[in-house]
Amino acid sequence: MRKVLVLTEAKAGNLRGVSLEVLTAAQRIAEGGEIVAVAIGSDATHYAKVLGKHGAKKVYIVGNKELEVYTTDAYSQALRQIIDEVEPEAILMPHTAIGKDLAPRLAARYGLGLVSDVIDVQVEDGEVLFTRPIYSGKAFEKRNVKSGTLFATVRPNNIPVEKIDGTIEVVHFNAEIKDLRTIVKEVVRKTTGGVDLSEAKVVISGGRGVKSEEGFKPLEELAEVLGGAIGASRGACDAEYCDYSLQIGQTGKVVTPDLYIACGISGAIQHLAGMSNSKIVVAINKDPEAPIFQVADYGIVGDLFEVVPLLTEEFKKLLVTS
Ligand code: FAD
Repeated sequence: MRKVLVLTEAKAGNLRGVSLEVLTAAQRIAEGGEIVAVAIGSDATHYAKVLGKHGAKKVYIVGNKELEVYTTDAYSQALRQIIDEVEPEAILMPHTAIGKDLAPRLAARYGLGLVSDVIDVQVEDGEVLFTRPIYSGKAFEKRNVKSGTLFATVRPNNIPVEKIDGTIEVVHFNAEIKDLRTIVKEVVRKTTGGVDLSEAKVVISGGRGVKSEEGFKPLEELAEVLGGAIGASRGACDAEYCDYSLQIGQTGKVVTPDLYIACGISGAIQHLAGMSNSKIVVAINKDPEAPIFQVADYGIVGDLFEVVPLLTEEFKKLLVTS
């Protein structure tokens, strides 16, 4: 039995799906031990019950105004106070922009090893095994931690969420935050509303083959019908057809949707690093030799400006009749 501390994340007051995936990973590691969740923001009381139905026995709700916008400094101060109070045997965080920034800082502070970007967790004979991709997703390694507190970040969309019956104790925690070295004055959001790319179940991605900003329109129509998010290759971003916040790949976002539709993307290794773990990959490209077809489950050789609107029409019909 282990005591596990989980950092949850919310967006605009709504719990992010990855938080429940991390709690499921925590259930496996805890093996019946206590799971303590941390939720930042006083509005977390709305979803505290949901955390309880996914294994958390206690939630620390931290409502400090210094934490309204993420800064490494303020979050790490708050988290350290909770870690010192809870004394967990394992710490888990989502492998999101926040987790990727915060976990190494805390690991360094405590002198702990960090297993990042975990896509599966199993316990074998009492030993916790973390699976993570290496070499841009070309291979996978299993890691265990021999000493000290286990510390890992969990990639979104990989661990199927498991519910359990449970109630939760709520602790309102006021962190002592002082001597901040950075203060965020303004946050400029580049993407508005819509489905969060890193958690989307369907991603429609455009490459240099879309040829212009306008060229993304048919992809957006398909994404709307399928309830998906728009992504892009770096080729499309470099050509200024879209914003870099949409870039998928080694130097962009990593996505693992159920369905990934690559439109006019050649399939460079750096792009594959961000999407090759998608469950189903569909590639649309007019070059039959394009490398993207080697990782595609379904390939359509053709002009995306003809193929994508046809798909949109067909999906519309199917979704209306089903
Ligand atoms: P291209 O390679 O130019 O391919 C365009 C494709 O569109 C072609 O296959 C063409 O046949 C097809 N096409 C053209 N017109 C049509 C049409 N009408 N209908 C259908 N198909 C059409 N790339 C990433 O994506 N993500 C990364 O994170 C990333 N990181 C990188 C990091 C480093 C260090 C380096 C060196 C490179 C990185 N790259 C990354 C760049 C990567 O190597 C490729 O250059 C890039 O992915 C190419 O983008 P693309 O496939 O859109 O463009």
